[in-house]
This record gives sequence, structure tokens and C-alpha cells, in this order.
Amino acid sequence: MDDPIDRRPGVDHTRAHPARVYDYWLGGKDNFAADREVAEAMMTAVPGIPMMARANRDFLQRTLRVLVSERGIDQFLDVGSGIPTARNTHEVVQELAPAARVLYVDNDPVVAAHSRALLTGTHDGASAFLLADAREPGAILGDPVLHRTLDLHRPVGLMLVSVLMYFPDEVAHHIVRTLLAALPPGSHLTISHPTADFDPEASAAAVAVARRGGLTYITRSRAEVEAFFAGLELVGPGVVPIAGWRPELGAGPRGDERRAHFWGGVARKP
Ligand code: SAM
Repeated sequence: MDDPIDRRPGVDHTRAHPARVYDYWLGGKDNFAADREVAEAMMTAVPGIPMMARANRDFLQRTLRVLVSERGIDQFLDVGSGIPTARNTHEVVQELAPAARVLYVDNDPVVAAHSRALLTGTHDGASAFLLADAREPGAILGDPVLHRTLDLHRPVGLMLVSVLMYFPDEVAHHIVRTLLAALPPGSHLTISHPTADFDPEASAAAVAVARRGGLTYITRSRAEVEAFFAGLELVGPGVVPIAGWRPELGAGPRGDERRAHFWGGVARKP
């Protein structure tokens, strides 16, 4: 397939990038040959990967609905938000709470271009996009766009959905701790994270292929994912396979909860 030449500053289409690899699995068109090569190689190692990407999006939507409807959260900080595909965070939450506010953060210029295009025309700045690196949470917290969009004196839903696997432990914990410390009590943290706990062989193969494609991809055990929630109150059912987190709220197929190799959970900051 030929790619149109993308001359936007910062867009490097000669190397695979996580957002565009993920976009390919979700059936999107915002990916280049290098992305498709890594995506296809990972699918050869783990054929279920596109299904897992969809399961992850479904988890995101179910957790958002619970956060708005049961927990009264109406502002969200969605870090590593990805290329907008159907049913993004602001669409899901503003359907339930029309005044809800969302700040998307991602470090990919392709994500930035698509997010900004999608958000143009949404009402009175209720949703915004910030091009920033999650590894610098202090810069995110200090950015005027964040303060124009979110009120950090009121509870926030911090969404780290399928993103912490790109960072080694120290960095991942620094991101979680720093962002949470800036949010008031009553805020909630949502995480989904790939794991080798369900199918060690397939997961090891996926990790190896990702590394060959230049992507960092770290799987974590249940205890390691639970460690991100230390000091918080886990919301039922706790850290579970994402397909088994409140599945009754979704329209997707039921069945083996471990089909998507991800742990997921939501917790409240006391
Ligand atoms: N959260 C979305 C979801 O679950 O559908 C997208 C997940 S996608 C697998 C991971 C996203 O994290 C990509 O959009 C990628 O660009 C972003 N990402 C990777 N490293 C990042 C970093 N250092 N800072 C900010 N975003 C990053």
C-alpha cells in the first residue's frame, strides 16, 4: 500500500510508532508501512492482538461510564490517549454528563493532528489535546492548557489505559505518583496493562517482535499492576482481566475473560 507523504513536523513514518501500530489493529487508516510491518509481525506471534486492542477500548468505555454514573467524575485526564477512533473519552463521558471536560495527552504528532481536528468545534473548550511526553508529568501538570481545561480542585479521572507498558518500573511509577499527587481526594485512577500471566509464550513472542521493531513493550504481573494502585481504594471487582471488569455494562461478546492478555482496574484516591 502506498502512503501519502506526511510532511507534518515531527512525523517520522520510517519507524513504527505505538499509536499507529495500535490504530492498524483497530482497523484505522492512520498508519504507515513501518507501523504495519511491526503490527503484522506481532499478529503473527499473537493472532488475537486486534481482538485485545478492541477489548481494551471496550474496557476504557465501561470504566468511563462507571466513573461518570457511579462515581460522579466529570473531568478526565487521558494520558497516552491514542489516535481517535470511534467512541473517544469525551464522546462517552459527554453523552452521560454534557458538561464533562477532557484533556487528552499524547506524544505522537499524528495523534495530535487527528485529535485537534476531531476536537475543533466541540463546545467551549470542554475537550482539549496536549502534545506532551508522559515521562515528564511535571510539564503536563504545569501546562496552561491543562489548567484551562481541568479544575484540579475537583476530582479528576486519570486514565492510563494501555500506556504504562512503554516505560520501565521507575519511570512508570514516577508518572503515576506525580500525576496522582496533583489530583484531589476523590479522584480516580484507571489502568489497563498487558500481562504475560495468561499466556506466557504468546506474550514473550509479542514482546520480542515489538523490541525488534524498536518498541519498548513490558508485560507486568497482577501484583506489579496492583502496585500502581498502592494507597488507593480499589473499586470492585479490583484488578481483574479487562474483559471481566463489569462486563455487564458492555455490548461486546462475553466468554473467556482471559482472552485479552491485560489486567485492568480502577481505584479512588482517599
Ligand atoms: N489509551 C488509548 C486506548 O487505550 O485506546 C491508546 C493506547 S495506545 C496502545 C498507546 C498510546 O500511548 C499511543 O497513542 C502512544 O502514542 C502513546 N504514548 C506512547 N509513549 C508515550 C509517551 N512517552 N508520552 C505520551 N504518550 C505516549
